[in-house]
Amino acid sequence: MTKISIIGSTGSIGINTLRVVEAHPKALSVVALCARRNVKLLFEQAKKFRPQLVCLFESDEAPWLERKLKPLGIHVVTGPDGLIVASTLASADKIVFALVGGVGLKPIFAAVKAGKTVAIANKEPLVMAGELLQKEATRTHAQLIPIDSEHSGLWQCLEGRDRKTIKKLILTSSGGPFFGRTINFRNVTARQALRHPKWKMGPKITIDSATLMNKGLEVIEATNLFGVSLDQVDVVIHPEAVIHALIEFVDGAQLAHLGITDMRLPIQYALSYPTRFVNSIPSLDLAGVKSFHFFKPDQKRFPCLGLGYEAKRSGGTMPTVLNAANEIAVQKFLNGACRFTDIPKTIERVMGLHRVVRNPALNQILEADTWARSEAQND
Ligand code: MG
Repeated sequence: MTKISIIGSTGSIGINTLRVVEAHPKALSVVALCARRNVKLLFEQAKKFRPQLVCLFESDEAPWLERKLKPLGIHVVTGPDGLIVASTLASADKIVFALVGGVGLKPIFAAVKAGKTVAIANKEPLVMAGELLQKEATRTHAQLIPIDSEHSGLWQCLEGRDRKTIKKLILTSSGGPFFGRTINFRNVTARQALRHPKWKMGPKITIDSATLMNKGLEVIEATNLFGVSLDQVDVVIHPEAVIHALIEFVDGAQLAHLGITDMRLPIQYALSYPTRFVNSIPSLDLAGVKSFHFFKPDQKRFPCLGLGYEAKRSGGTMPTVLNAANEIAVQKFLNGACRFTDIPKTIERVMGLHRVVRNPALNQILEADTWARSEAQND
């Protein structure tokens, strides 16, 4: 029985993780659940999955939750300290990180420091501090397992390979809701940008998919997770979103990872690893898909992808600044406080103001994050 702690159980990845647990009751159980503020759903999940502990990050409703869960013998913790408790729980075999944004960095770092096996869907901390997390994982023998679908695909293709034989990693992108459409980006509304053609995801990552910043972040994530250089990572637009990633060997042979667009697949593999579970998720029907298309990304129309490469090239704290400015700009766009086209402008401006710190420690990364967020707010 693998015991799981889910950090971010009420979002899209968290809910899908619980669907995977539910489908494998003999193999998987939940020891901790953590949510930011969706107390009603957290309560329902706790009632059903009976963890030993739940964490409600924003504590306003914690007294209500405590009253409801006490008779079930479930302990309630709150705030940043509670988040760390849930992220480092001694009884947890695997910690699933499904938060959105840089807020996940401290708990992931704590889990890695504690030598845990961490399954990470929360890509922003890997962008901000991937190298630092890898270094710490080497020291503590913690294991980092990617859940991001492209990186899960790469990880599966790379398994057991001699890294000297790898020439390139190739990430695919569906292109988001605006690929191939002649639409004036200045007038794009949040509702239009939130209509992703292939994946059902939370609002932040869906906007990132529309700007292609999601792929910019994923390029950095890939270099940090797999220890490759920036020029070894390519992006190709593949609107069918059936191939999630490919690797190319030094002799030119390529291997691809294919699957239906269902996050339960990479989540399940992260939880079942090193084995695989039989499941009832539908098979990929290639004859139904019929054809695959591929395109070069248009970096003029989608400048966020290029900003991702630029941030990694600058190195040090710059990826943190890219991520922080993006988080603020996306939130503003979702709130109707800026245009779609302002997102890359804000990021570029804040990156231009930043003085890079090389080989940053965790506190320097967190400082750069705070600085960039307040700079991005000032637009
Ligand atoms: Mg992805």
